[in-house]
Amino acid sequence: MTKFRAKLTFIMIVMIGCSMLIAGIFMAKVLEDSHVKSLEDNMERELRVIVATGDWSRIGSENELMAYFSQQAKRIKGVTNERLTYVRTDGKVIGDSDQEPGQMDNHLSRPEIAAAAASGVGYSTRYSDTLKEKMLYAAIPVKNEAKATIGFLRISMSLEQVDKSIRSLWYFLIVGLLILFLIAGLVSYRIAKGITHPIEKMTKVAQQITNMNYESRVPAYSNDEVGQLGLAINRMSESLQQQMARIRENERRLQGVMENMLSGIMMIDRDERIMLLNPSAENILGFSSQELLGKRYNEAKQQFEFTKLIQECIETRESIRDEMIFYYPAERILDIHLSPIAHEDEEWSGVLIVIHDITAVRRLERMRSEFVANVSHELKTPIAAVKGFAETLLAGALNDKDTAVSFLQIIFDESERLNRLIGDILELSKIESKRIPMNFSPIYLPEFLERSLHVLRKEAEKKHIELSMQVDEDMYIEADEDRLRQIIINLLSNGIAYTQDGGKVKVRVEPLDPNSDGDYERLRLIVSDTGMGIPKKDLPRIFERFYRVDKARSRISGGTGLGLSIVKHLVELHKGTIRVDSEVGIGTRFTIELPVIH
Ligand code: ADP
Repeated sequence: MTKFRAKLTFIMIVMIGCSMLIAGIFMAKVLEDSHVKSLEDNMERELRVIVATGDWSRIGSENELMAYFSQQAKRIKGVTNERLTYVRTDGKVIGDSDQEPGQMDNHLSRPEIAAAAASGVGYSTRYSDTLKEKMLYAAIPVKNEAKATIGFLRISMSLEQVDKSIRSLWYFLIVGLLILFLIAGLVSYRIAKGITHPIEKMTKVAQQITNMNYESRVPAYSNDEVGQLGLAINRMSESLQQQMARIRENERRLQGVMENMLSGIMMIDRDERIMLLNPSAENILGFSSQELLGKRYNEAKQQFEFTKLIQECIETRESIRDEMIFYYPAERILDIHLSPIAHEDEEWSGVLIVIHDITAVRRLERMRSEFVANVSHELKTPIAAVKGFAETLLAGALNDKDTAVSFLQIIFDESERLNRLIGDILELSKIESKRIPMNFSPIYLPEFLERSLHVLRKEAEKKHIELSMQVDEDMYIEADEDRLRQIIINLLSNGIAYTQDGGKVKVRVEPLDPNSDGDYERLRLIVSDTGMGIPKKDLPRIFERFYRVDKARSRISGGTGLGLSIVKHLVELHKGTIRVDSEVGIGTRFTIELPVIH
């Protein structure tokens, strides 16, 4: 832009300089002309004075006249310092202040003499051969009393003087011109700056807009076109700023949605490159954005079937939905939906892939059907027993009273078992569906445990099992009382069931990590026995539904295989944890940790 300013300044200076130069030349010419003109006027006036005051009609011999007029001319030159020449009408010089008239040639054809003869006064400027100088001549005719021309009086002066004054005039003119030139240059520069400065500023702002800096503005200039342009640029930049803010806001929102949604989103562009991947997709696919973004879909690390699916969608340009098992990073079942993206102006611009991890859904479905199968199987056993013994009774066993009583006892026990089983199944499905709300209340633990033990005391006494508890006086917990009781009773009755006669079953409560004041946020409930224990390989599975270590053993105890599963769910409803330690032949210990306050 300074280039433009320099150009503008240069043009202005050249224009001012040229016009000044032309004006100067004209002025010099006019001055010279008027100077010469006034010299001529002066000379004419002088001539007339000389003619009027001298005696120019004297009569005598030619030599005498020559001497006389030359002497007159010299005298006058002594006063005026101008050469004076007297020429007769026939052109013969008969008097001259500077030369010997006799040696001078005929002057009739001299332009000033000819002009004087014709119009009464004549001038001429020419180089004098006699004086070797540029001279200005003026001549007028001299007349006698009868008004007849008797000769011409001519004066001449060196133009040296005139040239000198013209030269000094030029000198002043050039100096003045130079000064004016400087001033003009400065003024031009200022004016150019005044014009180019706003344009430079606007260019800078426009550049900043290009660099996405929308904050910069053009300062307010005058109200002219340049000012208007500045205003327009400011308005444009403001509107751009607003639009960018809106776009950024939308982008942020979209980003938020993409980042927080559970579905994995992947986008493949027209060039078959992966151009978008949200965190869920990273998780599901097991690769980070850095590993995938910008790569061609078939060159990036991918499961082969997945790549094939994308390829199919690209080739057919049709939506595809498929379920796929991925083995990396862990085994998962994925629901993959691919749809071609089409914009208004083009039929195809990529593929949008939405991935759902449906592992949990499918696992749940499998568990449901397994559960149904298990339940049916569990129900079949007691029903088969009831049916079998009833049949035997009907077939004649009724007649043998002792057999009949023992068979009826078995039928009664089995229907009792059936009843328990159905009760437990209902209970478990209720707990699992989380339909019943928790009913938290403060529970005074010593009293609560005492009452729970009381329920089982009879059972324990039957097997001569020592039932005991150990709990501090002031222990409270906030819990759902009925459910907590169910937990304790299930664990204690298991302990009694799987412990031989004369064994011990014990429940103990202790605070967990108390601070220096003795306050604690969690407590530990331990139910231990000195029973037969659980083999190591079965430990991880005993909380599963219908899982029994030993079918026969359970049958004797009358267990359904659902007790521990119910306990685990109830503990989790209390935001607690349960774990089991056991050694075959020595005993089993269940440890529950619960928060004291909810
Ligand atoms: P069940 O109704 O059969 O007792 P549970 O779910 O309560 O079912 O227990 C699952 C299995 O864990 C039982 O079949 C039993 O083999 C084993 N078990 C549970 N508690 C004890 C224990 N205190 N001592 C030894 N084995 C136990």
